[in-house]
Amino acid sequence: MLFSKLLIPTLKEAPQEAEIVSHKLMLRAGMIRKVASGIYTWLPLGLKVLKKIENIVREEMDASGAQEVFMPMVQPRELWEETNRWEKMGPELLRIKDRHDRDFCLGPTHEEVITDIIRDNVKSYKELPLNIYQIQTKFRDEVRPRYGIMRGREFLMKDSYSFNNDEESLQETYLLMRETYKKILERIGLDYKISAADSGAIGGDSSEEFHVLAENGEDTIAVSDASEFAINTELLLKDGEDIKSLEGKPSPDGKGIIQIKKGIEVGHIFKLGKLYAESMKANVLNSDGKAQVLCMGCYGIGVSRLVAASIEQNYDEKGIVWPHSIAPFDINIISIGHDKNKDIEKASMKLYKDLTKMNYSVLLDDRKDGYGKKIKDSELIGIPLNIIVGNKYLENEEVELLARNGESSINPVSDLKTILDFFKTK
Ligand code: ATP
Ligand code: MG
Repeated sequence: MLFSKLLIPTLKEAPQEAEIVSHKLMLRAGMIRKVASGIYTWLPLGLKVLKKIENIVREEMDASGAQEVFMPMVQPRELWEETNRWEKMGPELLRIKDRHDRDFCLGPTHEEVITDIIRDNVKSYKELPLNIYQIQTKFRDEVRPRYGIMRGREFLMKDSYSFNNDEESLQETYLLMRETYKKILERIGLDYKISAADSGAIGGDSSEEFHVLAENGEDTIAVSDASEFAINTELLLKDGEDIKSLEGKPSPDGKGIIQIKKGIEVGHIFKLGKLYAESMKANVLNSDGKAQVLCMGCYGIGVSRLVAASIEQNYDEKGIVWPHSIAPFDINIISIGHDKNKDIEKASMKLYKDLTKMNYSVLLDDRKDGYGKKIKDSELIGIPLNIIVGNKYLENEEVELLARNGESSINPVSDLKTILDFFKTK
């Protein structure tokens, strides 16, 4: 991609409205722009990162054996009446009417729609278990949308729903999803904790949240410093416990000391049991030919929130430091004097084509600006590796490799292998 042709409206200063670092940097890097409160347009750079995360989520979901579908965003009132959630959801559910005065809502989640599909189309216990997922826009009329896409009203979620014959099978799928979420967060390269959680408006028997640890997290979690023990303090408050009494105390699992941390909830997995299946009469015939109520699980991961959460964990005073797995481009070729010197232009274009052919996603900064502006922009938008084609090329046909972490080396432009090895180790 040529920088001069891309819509990347970078900003020197973050607009006043941005309070936390990820929101500031997403605006400054030209990744998103606000359309209305909690509603954003994803510009090319932001969309590239969003799609990278979406792909990681999709690959891991497919590898787990889950099947992808695409459900409508607009859902009829009747389905929500069946679970009593038309009333229960309150003002977070955005309700609309069609031209015939019929009630609909914009889907904040899809338990009703998917359970309706399964009850109509799956008849025998032999067809289970099933795990169905989608990656789709959700709408929740949040009381306090804030922090940009971190808490939007419109956001992208991967939601999946499992249908099982019994609790034992549900437990198996639940653990498989738990492992799948771990793989997703590890592939992105995030530091996270899995905490026992309150099941909120989704309900069900029990649930766990995946928290990316970051100072700006909205959740407070109690974690052990020596084991995997973690619990959302929301759950403790609900049970009347006192958070302060936990701080510095031995962990309830007998390993380590409790510390209080801030976390961003990026995923939430639930054992729903028969909650929705009972109210929506979702049954299959069991081996005796008798109707048996389905057991369900549901598993959500905030695809768009993960973009912001990744920034909260990976930035410095210059800008974003993307983990390689989700960087919008792998390499930025900074061509100094691109418009003035044919040799520089030719060498930069050759490098650009060669690296692109090798399946790297490459940005070529061919703008008229000088080195200062170009490197500042590159650091702001967080590209892992810069290749600087300038004076050293004119002198000795050499280029400077400059990683986002500051490490650098000088190499002959023809030595692609060294360039790529350098990229891989940074
Ligand atoms: P929160 O406690 O942050 O409001 P939630 O418990 O309402 O989230 P779930 O219903 O568990 O959220 O949704 C699954 C995932 O969707 C969450 O773990 C989160 O990553 C994401 N998500 C939920 N609400 C939003 C939002 N308003 N903006 C962006 N992502 C969201
Ligand atoms: Mg939740």
